[in-house]
Amino acid sequence: MKIKALKGFKDIVPGDVELWQHLEKVARSLFDRFNFAEIRLPILEETELFARSIGETTDIVEKEMYTFVDKKVTMRPEATASLLRAYIEHGLYVQKPVQRLFTIGPMFRHERPQKGRLRQFHQMDVEVLGSESSRVDTELMAMGSMLFKELDLVVSLEINSLGCPACRPGYRQELVRFINDRIDSLCADCKRRSTSNPLRVLDCKVPGCREQMLEAPSILEHLCPGCKTHFHQVQTGLQQLGIEYRLNKFMVRGLDYYCRTTFEFITGDLGAQAAVAAGGRYDGLVETLGGPKNTPGIGFAMGMERFILLMQQKKESEIKKQPVDLFMVGLGEKGTETGFVLAHALRGMQFTVAMDHEGRSLKGQMKQANKAGARYVLIVGDDELAAGKGILRNMKEDGQQEVALVVEKVAEILI
Ligand code: ATP
Ligand code: MG
Repeated sequence: MKIKALKGFKDIVPGDVELWQHLEKVARSLFDRFNFAEIRLPILEETELFARSIGETTDIVEKEMYTFVDKKVTMRPEATASLLRAYIEHGLYVQKPVQRLFTIGPMFRHERPQKGRLRQFHQMDVEVLGSESSRVDTELMAMGSMLFKELDLVVSLEINSLGCPACRPGYRQELVRFINDRIDSLCADCKRRSTSNPLRVLDCKVPGCREQMLEAPSILEHLCPGCKTHFHQVQTGLQQLGIEYRLNKFMVRGLDYYCRTTFEFITGDLGAQAAVAAGGRYDGLVETLGGPKNTPGIGFAMGMERFILLMQQKKESEIKKQPVDLFMVGLGEKGTETGFVLAHALRGMQFTVAMDHEGRSLKGQMKQANKAGARYVLIVGDDELAAGKGILRNMKEDGQQEVALVVEKVAEILI
């Protein structure tokens, strides 16, 4: 019986991988320009790390984690917790009061696989630790927005504030009152959430619940002066940078650790998988994980599969591969040997060189050269070899010339 990849786990094969490489390249260049440093993190962490940071009553911790029960370890479902663990473990705050870090890699959640929703998926994750400034919130959203622009993708930015431990409890109480008045009309999940995590009722996707919650009180009317000013400044910043956004009082995010600014980049083109990137502020989280007190933080994660789907939906989405500079055609034992040695030397000089090792005919090899989109083909047969010359064919201009079989001579023409 053939063994197949697990459900929700996908190979990214040549032909698709070029788009992924392009996405990463554009993103890395952008992270660089915004002065972020890369950090690489392990995939396996202690289960407790996620339970404590993401929250026991969240969907992720309640039902989506890949946990080895006998070992008390979990395949990371997201990157923030691991990144903060590393930040604390290495005392990165000692080196620099404000750390700007990004990481790229696979995450694991046991969900029902659908288009844009996998069990192993990939995120690009950006975090700023040690700054409370509203400018950082604005800057992160501006960076996200610039990434979509550079990839020629259209999404909309939605923002909200979740307040802080000073103002959220008051709001929560009022929300619970509102929920309790219509509890009978809510779904079973929301009935449960109404006591464990009432804010989550706000972003329930069940139409009946949505309708019931339309008139729900907004946290934005309950923010304490500090949170109110902060959120006002975030919005002023966005306006200064010309970033369009929309307030969404229903956006609460699924994770417990968020406070103040939360945001999502939304698309209408991926059905239920609307959020392409999402994140927010988590000022208490470093301390919760045993790090220094009063270390504010904010970050967001970009779902790479959803980026790729959007990129594929565009007609001109095909990314040109690195062109092959030269296809080496060796004919006969000696010709092939000389070509083989030359090809190696040219690769050492930064040229992209392809060569066939199956002893195919000239016609067969020319066919391959065409398929590879090679700029030049160098034919080295026994006859040519005797004269110390090969035939270099310019595939774009359809001309050919003799060239001495000396690496420098060939390189001169390829440049
Ligand atoms: P959703 O509401 O779609 O389940 P989420 O709130 O669980 O998203 P986050 O934890 O905020 O997602 O993760 C950030 C981003 O990672 C999402 O906006 C999305 O693009 C991507 N993402 C999350 N879960 C998956 C998944 N199972 N498959 C593919 N991408 C995902
Ligand atoms: Mg989810």
